[in-house]
Amino acid sequence: MERVDVAIVGGGPAGACAAERAAAHGAETVLFEQGVPREDRDELGPDSTDAAGMLDYWVDIMDFDYREIPDEIILRELEGTEFVGPSTSVELTTTGMDASYPKFGYTFHRARMDDWLHERAADAGADLRVGTGVTDLETDLRASSPKGPTHTLTLSNGDQLEAQYVVLADGPQRRITLDALDQFTPPGRSIADSLSPPEANHIAYQEYREFPEELFAEFEDRLKFWWGYMPGETAYPWIFPNDSRVARVGLTMPIGMQLEDVDDPASYKLLEPSDSQLPSGSEYISRLLEQEYGDEYDVESDIPRVEDRGKSKGTETYPISSTRPIDSPVGANVAVAGGAMGTTSAFHEGGYHVAVRTGKIAGRLAATDSLEHYNDLWKQAIGDEVLRNVVFADIVREYGPDDWDWAFGVANDMQGGGDDELISNRFSAGLDAVKLLASYRKRKFGYRDGGYVQFPEDDYLY
Ligand SMILES: Cc1cc2nc3c(=O)[nH]c(=O)nc-3n(C[C@H](O)[C@H](O)[C@H](O)COP(=O)(O)OP(=O)(O)OC[C@H]3O[C@@H](n4cnc5c(N)ncnc54)[C@H](O)[C@@H]3O)c2cc1C
Repeated sequence: MERVDVAIVGGGPAGACAAERAAAHGAETVLFEQGVPREDRDELGPDSTDAAGMLDYWVDIMDFDYREIPDEIILRELEGTEFVGPSTSVELTTTGMDASYPKFGYTFHRARMDDWLHERAADAGADLRVGTGVTDLETDLRASSPKGPTHTLTLSNGDQLEAQYVVLADGPQRRITLDALDQFTPPGRSIADSLSPPEANHIAYQEYREFPEELFAEFEDRLKFWWGYMPGETAYPWIFPNDSRVARVGLTMPIGMQLEDVDDPASYKLLEPSDSQLPSGSEYISRLLEQEYGDEYDVESDIPRVEDRGKSKGTETYPISSTRPIDSPVGANVAVAGGAMGTTSAFHEGGYHVAVRTGKIAGRLAATDSLEHYNDLWKQAIGDEVLRNVVFADIVREYGPDDWDWAFGVANDMQGGGDDELISNRFSAGLDAVKLLASYRKRKFGYRDGGYVQFPEDDYLY
């Protein structure tokens, strides 16, 4: 059987960065990416969920010098973002965080960015097998290797391979991660209870649309989000500007939510009295564009779908499971990185930056036989970001349309600085600001010292 030092499951940002770091540190490294067809790539490649927005300080979290990112990857430099509530909006022109990137952020070509990470991994000497999936992973905890447990990976072509260390980077769908980790969970417990509870399961849908020039100019340098327009936790539509006059218009919404589950459907702008069920993703997008721009434009002819992009005729649909992160069973020589470990934010679905960083850490540690430090090091590197996202997700979980208006009103009063622009220590903004700040601090305190981890390292059985 073929044998390698480090095997990586999944070739998204986490996997590609793990492969680059592992190979750069001298490990014999192989990465398996099942391979996904896309309109914007000739060959099979990683999944490249294309909704790519990057904030200024996320570049530092990725541990990249922004000047090394090739120009053709960046689509738009951003000056700010706009959050639109049912009747109140707030505009932010700074993230309020220290960052080396000089603008608010940028949107990027996700497939090109993923491909660049693959090039870097290949240049470092990693063996990238795109088009070969992993179908099973079994760990031998009592292996005779002096470096401890080993793993047998079964591949989609029927071959098997043995690896000393594995980095699981199969993304938020976790096709291999769940069963692989259940080898080490106590009887009666499954890692899926932590990573894939029903309330964490969302569907993301997006379309590429070409906008008239004067309309595109309204958001060409900003991200735009509509909160409180549709029901459900982390349910919101958005527009991200791309190249030329093309923007991605998308949303996330919970899987399995029914109209009967919605308190006061009439309060949501994207629901209609005649609805007998919740609208589909594409129907939500049509309604949003109609409401926002329908009085001046004929949406279908003036803002058409661009069919030669994305996954299928200008659209993309993804199941996504965003939740709080888990520790890895490092004693079994396994590291879980990126979306697979639950780093994609349940607040805003952002996760490219934390995937890159956790992948880099996992790859380096696996190559240097020091995986036991992984759970400490990822917390040092991304703990503050995870904490922020987890706390925000908690705060807004039960928000309805009026709550969003209230929060945006408070944020408008509070503008001006602090650790986060939205939650700054500006008591001059009045009692509501104090209330918001107190709720933020209380929840943050509740998750102190890594308390946001859902499945701690000590709970694994070896
Ligand atoms: C609609 C949407 C919008 C988003 N917007 C943003 C954004 O604007 N900014 C941001 O930072 N983040 C965003 N994210 C989150 C971001 O996409 C993820 O956090 C990030 O992709 C996680 O990277 P990853 O490498 O862990 O997983 P992925 O990118 O999901 O990569 C996993 C890879 O593993 C492969 N794979 C899976 N199973 C196997 C297997 N068995 N064998 C071999 N290969 C396998 C898949 O094909 C895939 O290529 C968004 C996500 C969604 C769904």
